[in-house]
Amino acid sequence: MKEKFRRFMAGRYGGDDLNQFLCIASLAFLVVAMISHVRLFYYAGLALLLYSYYRMFSRNISKRTAENYRFYTFKENLASGWRSKRSQWASRKQYRYYTCPQCKQKLRVPRGRGRIQISCPRCGTQFIKKS
Ligand SMILES: [Zn+2]
Repeated sequence: MKEKFRRFMAGRYGGDDLNQFLCIASLAFLVVAMISHVRLFYYAGLALLLYSYYRMFSRNISKRTAENYRFYTFKENLASGWRSKRSQWASRKQYRYYTCPQCKQKLRVPRGRGRIQISCPRCGTQFIKKS
């Protein structure tokens, strides 16, 4: 039986972190579906589960690996976004945060200096804001 499974899985993708995430997410959806009796959650959970199985048995390994890397990138972006929001919140008494109207660069200016001219270090755009 073990041997048979091993032979079946040969050349197939198997598990990765994205699949682990999909399994946990589908389980969460199914639990919510059981509690709330909302069918949509049930279908969402089932779809995620089927997708994770599809990925596990897939023979297109390079494509699955690329998906997994996109998942890592997405996770890292989410985490760094969260970190920057948290540090902004922690220093909200000392600094004000603005976004450059030209290049969308985030800028930090000290509070309590009145109206000041801010020049973006990235693109050089100057604009006036209250600090
Ligand atoms: Zn700029």
